[in-house]
Amino acid sequence: MRVAMIGTGYVGLVSGVCFSDFGHDVTCVDTNAEKIAQLTRGEVPIFEPGLEALLAKNVAAGRLSFTGDLASAVAGAEAVFIAVGTPTRRGDGHADLTYVYAAAREVAAALSGYTVVVTKSTVPVGTNREVARIIAEANPEADFDVASNPEFLREGAAIDDFMRPDRVVVGVESARAREVMGALYRPLYLREAPMVYTGLESAEMIKYAANAFLATKITFINEIAALCEKVGADVKAVSKGMGLDGRIGNKFLHAGPGYGGSCFPKDTKALARIGQDHASPMEIVETVIAVNEARKRAMVDKVLDLCGGRVANKVIAVFGVTFKPNTDDMRDSPSLTIVPALVGAGATVRVVDPEGRKEGEALLPGVTWMDDPYEAASGAVAAVILTEWNEFRALDLARLAGAMAEPRLADLRNIYSPEDAARAGLSYVSVGRAPVG
Ligand code: NAD
Repeated sequence: MRVAMIGTGYVGLVSGVCFSDFGHDVTCVDTNAEKIAQLTRGEVPIFEPGLEALLAKNVAAGRLSFTGDLASAVAGAEAVFIAVGTPTRRGDGHADLTYVYAAAREVAAALSGYTVVVTKSTVPVGTNREVARIIAEANPEADFDVASNPEFLREGAAIDDFMRPDRVVVGVESARAREVMGALYRPLYLREAPMVYTGLESAEMIKYAANAFLATKITFINEIAALCEKVGADVKAVSKGMGLDGRIGNKFLHAGPGYGGSCFPKDTKALARIGQDHASPMEIVETVIAVNEARKRAMVDKVLDLCGGRVANKVIAVFGVTFKPNTDDMRDSPSLTIVPALVGAGATVRVVDPEGRKEGEALLPGVTWMDDPYEAASGAVAAVILTEWNEFRALDLARLAGAMAEPRLADLRNIYSPEDAARAGLSYVSVGRAPVG
């Protein structure tokens, strides 16, 4: 099938590359000329494991190309995916649909022959119907259906998630559109990925409900972790004991510095707004948003307390600033709250992150970027683990302690055991467990 993918960000690019790997003929479109130039040279503008090789393979096979010319890509396509950003609108928490509607208008003008216009971006309930209205108004002759196909991939494991999804959700209203969507995803039948066909509104709601639920699960265990610290319980043991219950499950039960990233913060806010607009308040989700904000600030206090309350003119090494490992994405990362607060308290902050520097340099002014964790910790009064990159999982803690002026470690991802930290001579705090030293 011929596919046009509008938007070559984390979702559009991964989806486009994976659809081409399924054997479809995919043209990826972006308004960002620099991105298209990079992709045409075979360079991937984001860090996503495995993506560059899969892209090269499918370009070489003649199934994948990149262009800034939306009209040419759309004209020959049987399915046009809209995978542009839907960031939080400034001021009110709503999803900003400017890019989606602009893409819909452009697509409308270029349609030829029966086409399914598929929204892959995360969009509030009612958006697909509005996309249909925009297209019909802009091009009354157009022969098209809309479909809602929210994406559930995780950055850092995006290709595997796309190729082996827990499920594919498709909101459609016509048998014709359903057939096209079924044909697009047919290669996944062999892997027995369940296809969940619904109406447009349900598909849109599934995405927000799923993300809000996951954000709630993380926030729940973070609150339990805070209580564990007060009562002498160990949150890792508590998570394990809870997670083995099949009704609960062990995923997203790792306590940490608060959720971040390109999806949970904006999608929880958007869902809260949708609830308010429909006089059906999402009180749990609203509380989750507030608790998560407080969580990030509490992490600053944890680090300051570890350092005896004063960090002015002292060196602090921060390990990891991306919102999770294996991505260069810095959007709404907890580091964007925690690091500026440490800088604001007068600390000299040195940052080590395997992929975060390119995005992070503009977002974290006043820090020094370094490559080696031991060098960054040299002369420091504390090291802080914010992101559990593999590079930080097997540090020589005795060497780290030896390099520091005052050996302290704030392990906000619970990578190390308090016993190992104590053996290395570190004063150690983590989340949801007793401090040592
Ligand atoms: P992104 O910001 O990385 O990429 C969006 C791209 O769209 C940019 O390259 C931009 O230049 C391009 N664009 C904007 N308007 C355009 C237009 N009119 N024509 C062509 N290109 C245009 O965004 P993302 O992280 O890929 O997210 C896209 C959508 O997918 C969002 O709604 C997001 O919520 C959703 N989503 C994201 C993830 C994730 O992990 N990032 C996961 C699931 C769903």
